Amino acid sequence: RWAYVNGRYLPHRQAAVHVEDRGFQFADGVYEVVTLLDGRFADLDGHMERLGRSLSELRMDWPAAPRVVTMIARELVRRNGVRNGSLYIQVTRGVAPRDFKFPASVSATLVMTVKRVTAFAKPEQLEKGVAVVTVPDIRWGRCDIKTVGLLAPVLAKQQAAESGAYEAWLIDPDGTVTEGSSSNAWIVTQDGVLVTRAPSQKILNGITRLSLLRLAGERGIPVEERSFTVEEALAAREAFVSSAGTFALPVTRIDGKPVGEGKPGPVTRTLRQAYLDYVAAGVPS
Ligand code: PMP
Repeated sequence: RWAYVNGRYLPHRQAAVHVEDRGFQFADGVYEVVTLLDGRFADLDGHMERLGRSLSELRMDWPAAPRVVTMIARELVRRNGVRNGSLYIQVTRGVAPRDFKFPASVSATLVMTVKRVTAFAKPEQLEKGVAVVTVPDIRWGRCDIKTVGLLAPVLAKQQAAESGAYEAWLIDPDGTVTEGSSSNAWIVTQDGVLVTRAPSQKILNGITRLSLLRLAGERGIPVEERSFTVEEALAAREAFVSSAGTFALPVTRIDGKPVGEGKPGPVTRTLRQAYLDYVAAGVPS
């Protein structure tokens, strides 16, 4: 297994960054996760575009031209011989003596790893849906930036796991669902309207989310981008989460209570398949 670190392809277990890397000390960096399906990157352009946006919000330059970053990604995937899996790209501000202020001259640290995935969802998760638990959203004010500062989601996901749930839904102080700890949250109302929170600084505008919105529109599914509460989700017909690695995954329990009839529904199934078909129709990476 191979990793890429600052210009070098290295055996994964030897791949390392310096102890004074600002990603390590300050979480001063950003990342992307891109899924590989049957040799094709899913939504690569969207992920690269968001990486550029995250970098610019942190006032960082691209570590290399976007084309070059893409080329390295393809080469790393090739070297690893992975056709189904996920690519992790991380860019930190670089290595410098510890000081909060930006270092005067520093070059960014670019790291990429590739992981093989044998099944993106277990059959049981698709047949029965997954459980989520709710936790207060204690994250910072710029959740629209995909930074490596992930302590709140780590604690949320751990709490979900300890409760036997798959994901944690984060609850805004106003009582609405912001998003999952590593996914966007969706419901389908009793009227058949697909609802997901509108993009703002309170959520990460998922690349999968954007594609699902487009695919829903193309299929004539009515869409509303607005906030919803847990009560509304429990009364909904369907709920699901979306992310690069889950596509659209049915949610059938929230805090131990059933969503609607407690079974995965047709809109979730249709959108999941639509996303897989959309990726499969793309050019091989
Ligand atoms: N929200 C959060 C907080 C996330 O971490 C993720 C996964 N990166 C998402 C939403 C989903 O985004 P995407 O569809 O781009 O993976």
